[in-house]
Amino acid sequence: MRRGDNPKMKRLFPFFRYLLLAGALPGGSILSAQVPTLRVAFHIFQTDSGTGNFHADSVREMIFLKELEQWINTKAGKLDTLTPPVSSPYVPDAGFRIRVDTVFFHRDSHAWDCSVDIDAPYMRTRYVDQDSAMSYRQKHQTLPVFIGGNISIVGGHSRNIGGKGYIGMRGFYQQYIQNQYDVAVEESAKNLLHEIGHTVGLMHNFRGGTTGDQCDTCEDNGCPDIGTSNNIMDYWPSYGHALSECQAAIISSHLKGEKGTISDVLVNDSCYAIPESTLVISRGDTIRITGTQYLHGNLEILAGGVLDVSGYLSVPQGCRIQVRRGGQLVLSKGTVGNLCGDLWEGIFTESDDRTSTPQVRFVMGGKVENALIGLIWSDAVGIIGDRALFRNNVVGISLKGDSLVSATIQNFDFITTRRLNHHEEGFTPKAFIRATRASTMNVAHCTFTNEPGTLQFSIDSCGAGIDFNGEMIEVRGCYFYRLFTGIRTFARRDQVIHFNKFENSRCGVNILSGGYQSISENIFVLQRFNDVPTFGIVAHEPGVLQAHLNRFESEYGGGQIAGLCLVNPGTPNSTCYHNEYINLPVGNIILNQADIEKELFKWSAQPGREFSDLRLGTQFRRNVYWNTDGEILMMRNPGFGVVKGQSPEDINTSFINPADLPFGGYLWLDDAAGLTAFWPGKVPPDTIDAWHGIFEFMNRDESQSRRFSEFSIDTVKGALAKLDQMGKNPGDFFSGNLFEDLETLRGFPLAARSSVIMGYLDRFHHKEVWFIQGLTEIAATNSRIDTLLVDLRDSLAFCWYLTVPWWNTPPLHEVREVPALPGWPVGDYYRLLPDLVKGKPFPSFDIQPIPASEYIQIFPRASYIPDNFWRYEIFTSDGRLKLSGSLQGIQSLKIDTGGLSGGIYFIRIFGSRMNLGTQRFMIIPR
Ligand SMILES: [Zn+2]
Repeated sequence: MRRGDNPKMKRLFPFFRYLLLAGALPGGSILSAQVPTLRVAFHIFQTDSGTGNFHADSVREMIFLKELEQWINTKAGKLDTLTPPVSSPYVPDAGFRIRVDTVFFHRDSHAWDCSVDIDAPYMRTRYVDQDSAMSYRQKHQTLPVFIGGNISIVGGHSRNIGGKGYIGMRGFYQQYIQNQYDVAVEESAKNLLHEIGHTVGLMHNFRGGTTGDQCDTCEDNGCPDIGTSNNIMDYWPSYGHALSECQAAIISSHLKGEKGTISDVLVNDSCYAIPESTLVISRGDTIRITGTQYLHGNLEILAGGVLDVSGYLSVPQGCRIQVRRGGQLVLSKGTVGNLCGDLWEGIFTESDDRTSTPQVRFVMGGKVENALIGLIWSDAVGIIGDRALFRNNVVGISLKGDSLVSATIQNFDFITTRRLNHHEEGFTPKAFIRATRASTMNVAHCTFTNEPGTLQFSIDSCGAGIDFNGEMIEVRGCYFYRLFTGIRTFARRDQVIHFNKFENSRCGVNILSGGYQSISENIFVLQRFNDVPTFGIVAHEPGVLQAHLNRFESEYGGGQIAGLCLVNPGTPNSTCYHNEYINLPVGNIILNQADIEKELFKWSAQPGREFSDLRLGTQFRRNVYWNTDGEILMMRNPGFGVVKGQSPEDINTSFINPADLPFGGYLWLDDAAGLTAFWPGKVPPDTIDAWHGIFEFMNRDESQSRRFSEFSIDTVKGALAKLDQMGKNPGDFFSGNLFEDLETLRGFPLAARSSVIMGYLDRFHHKEVWFIQGLTEIAATNSRIDTLLVDLRDSLAFCWYLTVPWWNTPPLHEVREVPALPGWPVGDYYRLLPDLVKGKPFPSFDIQPIPASEYIQIFPRASYIPDNFWRYEIFTSDGRLKLSGSLQGIQSLKIDTGGLSGGIYFIRIFGSRMNLGTQRFMIIPR
């Protein structure tokens, strides 16, 4: 029979708790102190038939168990003098007590044996970890003592020195049955005390044979080969109960939580809160906390009142410290926290009066720990942090108030260790500093550390160092270690991030807003995580970004690591200069690079244009790449779902919306097969067609770049000259492979063109008048030839997405909302729709002659039967309808174009039931 079959047999709450708690509650004082007490649960294991051990319905047996606790506490509070004597002073008190909180009864013949290797780990798993009926406290903040029954000799073992795993004991029941009652109590309890000695951090005080190593490094105990003393930690503790000073120090250190996990089970009845009680510190009052004190309600510091903590002030769950205007909280090396394993509310400051601000002062490392929000910072609060430490709070400092808050945070340390209370219940660190509505925030010389890192918390729940939403932020000289994000900002104005170090975080800096961004002279140490990507900087729709002199480095390389990722960077002139990339798979990623041609032509058409007005997007220059596979990777249209391929399935599944992704979408360099795209939770395509705008190029010093030798300034200059020439004489269109040059130029990465053009302007614009003239000519006479190529391609891609599933042949003239593309010519994008006839080649007709002048002749492709109701429309390259009409019968598939002037045109042909697509052609006037 298992536990749960007979609930009455299992737990004996009322009776036992009554015995234990009688007289244990301190009086009504709002401050109290208590000796550290371990919360213990006894688990009595009977045989399957309910025999062979203590019984819940025997009052005498229950009292026997209760007396074990009393015996241990009496001895722990009144130790013997050590025999043989030692050099260090007598230790009168072990510094801890136990409290048996609950007794559980189980019927399990297997566990009844309670042996070291097999039963006890099973007992912990089966009867503690997997028991869903247990409370958080019973599961994580209680030391289980498993009491088996089948062996008559008393003995025991404990799991982990200084740990809260469990203790296994045997022989108690046989002692109880066979021996004199008092002897049985003593024999059982002293063995249990010895095991508890292990759980609070002690090893034996003897070596355990000539080659043994069971001793603590306690010199005041010596370390004989075999036990000869009355020390608790002697093997058969028959002579008394004593500890050395060194042992007491080890216990104390464990109970303070400095070592092991045993302090998790400390209980303390002082952590209760008296409902609606508040301790008020009024004008002229000063309360000093020197030792450990327990608060039992809220605390308010009024004007002229002072709370000075140099010891430990424990605040119960649900309670807070409120510093009113003119009040003062001083933490001089002291700590405000919670010693009961709970989370308290935190320090609140009030700021409705600027003439008399509340003061919170940290002197020589004052600490705030285990709060939901360590400090709520309103405006006009005087906060001085002399290496203030915020430890294991869900949120360290939160800036908020009725008005916008400004804050300067200097010399603060923020840390998460493995001791965030209730983390097993899902409480994980959120942000060390969080500003929800700040005007300006300056953070300098602070550290943000997640100490356990991946060992304890998932890296994804390690929180952010700084989470900022407001106007302006400046962060200098800080250190960020093992966080989800070092700095995440949504700043409407300036963001200045200089001289920081970001180490082993998922993302060092994540910028979610525009404005002016200066990120310089930081060091990003990027650690590879196997399942998720790692970035130094991610900037979403950055405004004017200046990333200079940063170092992005990885020790091991490989995996999914990139230094800088720009998402929708737009065309303001941004500069990424003089950065160093070391041992990375990818240096920089750009998603949705801005259209530089469009900006270029727009600019050239402006009267009175200035070079400073020329927006060429992000430029990467003078960066140094060491052992970096892909230096800059660009992806034109991830938002439009054209990452890969032609099949409908791919179009569906490869749709990436940057807003859906924590970092806005990704691109990666596959180890073997070139570029692949990937994103969480979806299978990446194997390959990506370069048609979709993914480019790789070298952007070292220009003179050394491989690709730059092909696409040098001369290439751009030559192409522009040809454009200029064509503007003067469209008949030259096919001379000198201009079209090919344009295509080549277009295929060149935009950011590189931006650099080339800008570099050209930097150096030659004073001399080379032709360039400006050429641009003007191009803009004036040959609108958008180059742009059109991009336009066409993007429109197709765009429409593909909009018409998914396009193979279902939507009605030709169905009106759909087409989101406006900024700066794009307004027009009917559906004129450029791909073939809507499933399985047919597209477009489904050819045109002769090329180029044309007086007429064009239409040649439908095979399997098309001329439809009496076919219609045609001819558009100019910028979308204006020039001609339309019907095509009736095969002999009339000739269209008079004598009235059209020279240039590029588009013709669309469609019928009542099908669409033959759109074809481009050229007119050269006679
Ligand atoms: Zn032992």
